[in-house]
Amino acid sequence: MWGLGRSLRSSLVPLSPWTLSLSHTGRSCHRASAHGANSALNFSDGKVFRLKSRWEVMRGLLIFQMCSFPTLVKNSEKLMGVSRRLLGRRLFEWGMRSTVYGQFVAGETLPEIQASMERLRKLGIRPMLAVPIEEDLGEGKTGELWYEQNEAIMMNCVDLSSLGGDRPMMQLKITALMSADLCKVLSGCLSDPSQRKALSPHSMVSIMEGEDSKFSFLSEQQNQHLQNSVRRLSRVGKHAVQKQVRVLVDAEYTYMNPALSLVTMAMMAQCNREEPWIWNTYQCYLKDSLRNLSQDLDTAVGLGLCFGVKLVRGAYMDKERKLAKIKGYPDPIQPDWEATNRSYNGCLDKLLDLIGQQGPRYNLIVASHNEESVLHAVRRMTDLGIDKPSGAICFGQLLGMCDHVSLTLGQAGYLVYKSIPYGSVDSVLPYLVRRAQENQSVLQGIRKERDLLHQEWKRRLLGRN
Ligand SMILES: Cc1cc2nc3c(=O)[nH]c(=O)nc-3n(C[C@H](O)[C@H](O)[C@H](O)COP(=O)(O)OP(=O)(O)OC[C@H]3O[C@@H](n4cnc5c(N)ncnc54)[C@H](O)[C@@H]3O)c2cc1C
Repeated sequence: MWGLGRSLRSSLVPLSPWTLSLSHTGRSCHRASAHGANSALNFSDGKVFRLKSRWEVMRGLLIFQMCSFPTLVKNSEKLMGVSRRLLGRRLFEWGMRSTVYGQFVAGETLPEIQASMERLRKLGIRPMLAVPIEEDLGEGKTGELWYEQNEAIMMNCVDLSSLGGDRPMMQLKITALMSADLCKVLSGCLSDPSQRKALSPHSMVSIMEGEDSKFSFLSEQQNQHLQNSVRRLSRVGKHAVQKQVRVLVDAEYTYMNPALSLVTMAMMAQCNREEPWIWNTYQCYLKDSLRNLSQDLDTAVGLGLCFGVKLVRGAYMDKERKLAKIKGYPDPIQPDWEATNRSYNGCLDKLLDLIGQQGPRYNLIVASHNEESVLHAVRRMTDLGIDKPSGAICFGQLLGMCDHVSLTLGQAGYLVYKSIPYGSVDSVLPYLVRRAQENQSVLQGIRKERDLLHQEWKRRLLGRN
């Protein structure tokens, strides 16, 4: 039906940059002492790993053990190159699929992806598919063909997600459907008050619905690409509504985020009248995250729309800081991790209160591996009387990471999703290597999970209950 396996095989695309960007600080997953915070949730109890197969426990241990050697991680690309030459492509792929790829990626073909989704479902965890296609500045493709092919892949992703049980969700990267260069130009225009007036969600909706408007501050080519792009987004959004799939739009770099929010709001205007089908992402490592969130909320309320939020800390810290330094503008990132935490809690509380007061017209996913953030949300849900299964508030972690958090939440009846990327081994591995190298402190962040897996392995070896 989808030809997904084939289309994915032929699209050798990199994974999204935050796949392994789990903990610049190494504090995630193992910060909070879960005891006492909420008697029902204990993230330090390795019992949840009893749900894993023997092979999954062993693989997790092996991978997290390997990751604890910085030299191995640093030289992993070279080591993989050598292994590929020595073992040949087929044996190398088999090895990778049994280890790193198997741990962090859902698969490549339709049956593989469906099997991954099914495994998660049996553990009480929901799949959230993420097509790993995106574009950065200067990578713009000529013509529309690449973006059109990506539209077909996103449509497939909607179809596949709709098989993922009740309240299915997927992630969407706007830059797969609209060039990053145009997103940057539009973001610049949005900072000019006169141009901002013209670039409203309303004007985007008109274009989505077929109006042939042109903006004088854009070139003919840019106008044409904008028209094609927003219509692609509109088609994906409408298809998702038809299939009852929630679409969570990813946040990317600050130089393109304003444009991403604009077209996301336009998608919301088309799709979110009755229910929040389209969600936006807010990165709390940004100094103006609360302001951006509040402004978008006001806009949504003004337009009579439902509103969904993916709340993250943010994945592009190092590059954002480097760019600010090179270009000489103020660093957009919070001064330190503690400030990011305060910002995260501020946004979280705002949304929790809103959902507590106004109910399911507002939805939130706490997309974090940070135990304190998760426990904070869980406690406030209880205080505010927000039902676990209502789905108004759910949780999200990345596939292969912090399973003790996801499994504990899932077993306790909270709605928890794993973001699951998919793609071919060739396209995915170089990316995973780069992410691991850029985020060496992630190695500390997974120490708790490694220790819990080790306990579980010992228990099985000794045949204890
Ligand atoms: C389901 C899901 C979807 C995601 N979608 C997106 C997305 O659309 N866009 C995106 O950008 N990211 C996304 N991410 C990644 C996310 O932004 C984080 O990079 C990642 O989850 C780590 O944050 P944490 O809260 O899990 O862990 P923690 O370890 O608690 O926090 C680490 C994070 O804190 C921040 N931080 C660390 N050190 C400092 C410092 N010195 N100063 C300021 N801040 C600091 C950084 O953001 C770092 O990633 C997603 C993550 C998940 C689980």
